[in-house]
Amino acid sequence: MANRNKQVLIVGGGTAGWLAACYLNARINQHRNGSRIQITLIESPSIPRIGVGEATIPTLINTLQTIGFSEREFMVASDASFKQGIKFVNWLHPGHAYYHPFDRRAAGSGDNRGLQWAQSQRNIDFAYWLSTQAAFCDAGLAPKGLGQADYQSPLAYAYHLNAEKFADLLRSKGLGQGIVHRYAEVQGLERNSDSGDIRAVLTDAGERLSADLFIDCSGLRGLLIDEALQVPHVDYSPWLLCDRAVTLRVPFSVQRPDNRKPYTTATARSAGWSWDIPLADRRGLGYVYSSQFISDTEAEAELRRAEGAHSDSCSGQVLRFRVGRRAESWRHNCVALGLASGFIEPLESTGIYLVEYAAALLCEYFPHGDNSASLQQRFNRLLQNRYEEILNFIVLHYCLSQRDDTPFWREVRKPARIPAALQELFELWREKACSHTDFHDAMQLFGHMNYEYILYGMQFPAPPSLTAPSKKNLELPTWVKKELTLGREKLPLHNTWLRQELDTRN
Ligand SMILES: Cc1cc2nc3c(=O)[nH]c(=O)nc-3n(C[C@H](O)[C@H](O)[C@H](O)COP(=O)(O)OP(=O)(O)OC[C@H]3O[C@@H](n4cnc5c(N)ncnc54)[C@H](O)[C@@H]3O)c2cc1C
Repeated sequence: MANRNKQVLIVGGGTAGWLAACYLNARINQHRNGSRIQITLIESPSIPRIGVGEATIPTLINTLQTIGFSEREFMVASDASFKQGIKFVNWLHPGHAYYHPFDRRAAGSGDNRGLQWAQSQRNIDFAYWLSTQAAFCDAGLAPKGLGQADYQSPLAYAYHLNAEKFADLLRSKGLGQGIVHRYAEVQGLERNSDSGDIRAVLTDAGERLSADLFIDCSGLRGLLIDEALQVPHVDYSPWLLCDRAVTLRVPFSVQRPDNRKPYTTATARSAGWSWDIPLADRRGLGYVYSSQFISDTEAEAELRRAEGAHSDSCSGQVLRFRVGRRAESWRHNCVALGLASGFIEPLESTGIYLVEYAAALLCEYFPHGDNSASLQQRFNRLLQNRYEEILNFIVLHYCLSQRDDTPFWREVRKPARIPAALQELFELWREKACSHTDFHDAMQLFGHMNYEYILYGMQFPAPPSLTAPSKKNLELPTWVKKELTLGREKLPLHNTWLRQELDTRN
């Protein structure tokens, strides 16, 4: 049977909905000779977006290019600044800090630099020994020079962005590219009683909108995947205790920084951790905490105390979430993306990445034909793998802590709080050092280089059988020294880059 153009209805106009709309349109309708799809997006005019999701990872560059944004257009419209990694403060113990930078020179399959460092005197911090980016972050430098082409840099980088403005930018791109848009609230749906498929959604404007494929981007509530199809939620709370966040926005009119930090700061706090994300015109702050260990009021007070008296004039907002994922993100003819699909706390900024990943998978696994069972099964497995992988990586940050100063930190360090797959890796690393062969999923987001930044940033020991009897002092490798000199000559301050290239308010 000849395939007709399939109709896709996206419910939700947050980052997930508009990113999926633009990405699917770009990949399927603009670059494919075969079947096309017709995309409609419906969003409620009265249910707000979550309004957070301000730190990203380098995968966003490819997504922005695919959708067709110039770097300048994107950065100006989204109040974006550069992000070169995350600085973790107070995670090992109060007073300690380390970086997880994006950049690291790959050294091939025999890379044993992690082991060399682990066996040494550790007189140079791991991230500074293996990358120049931690030092560039300290110096507040941009990841690219003035006048350098869009998205080009020898260093890996990502962005901090205003989530609302980014979703609006995606919306205007989508509308310009022919995506049909409705402002209305979905209040019900019709299902095929034989197949269980969704036939149409019903809106408060009295419309009935039918489609072949429904994409649920309705946020944490999961309007279609949860409330209608009742796909079970796989709970990650045995391993991740945080279930709330209080956020604050500190405009530069309230407190002007000397230089915007070109990285995200994640600071461990009494019952969780807080983010500090510098945008073009304000900082976004948020304290992610466990309601078992601190009340909303105490959490907000702790964040404000840490920030200082100027935060009194900034209003706070509490967000509640549950951590985990759908047992299946694709069931019947409904695919959930974004918060409707699942949520893992944003310690490594993986929320938008998971939308990018799922949207890219959906382009590849799009059900152009009549039988989607095998596509669906594979899509679900791949997405599940990503969630599990991210879960393990996030828990790694907590369980290596030496903090025992609060009940929260004593709890997260317990072996019962470590997922089995991560425990297996720890068993392995008691016998051998972490290396690339420990990670065998070709689609893995966080490989041995990321693990090493966290393990050795948190002072993980060398395996006992490989502990060197006399530990060597480390020297900075020649290439690091050369590139530090070059970088300091060529890279402007982050503020200077933003001001000169984007003409932002300082
Ligand atoms: C505390 C916190 C911090 C985060 N930080 C980061 C971060 O730093 N980096 C990162 O990558 N990710 C982060 N995330 C995740 C990120 O915010 C989300 O992945 C991203 O914003 C996508 O959200 P969404 O579009 O799925 O949901 P939302 O933004 O909530 O959008 C839901 C949409 O659905 C619509 N809707 C709801 N019900 C209906 C209805 N009945 N009819 C019609 N429309 C409806 C709403 O109007 C809205 O348009 C964070 C999340 C949380 C909770």
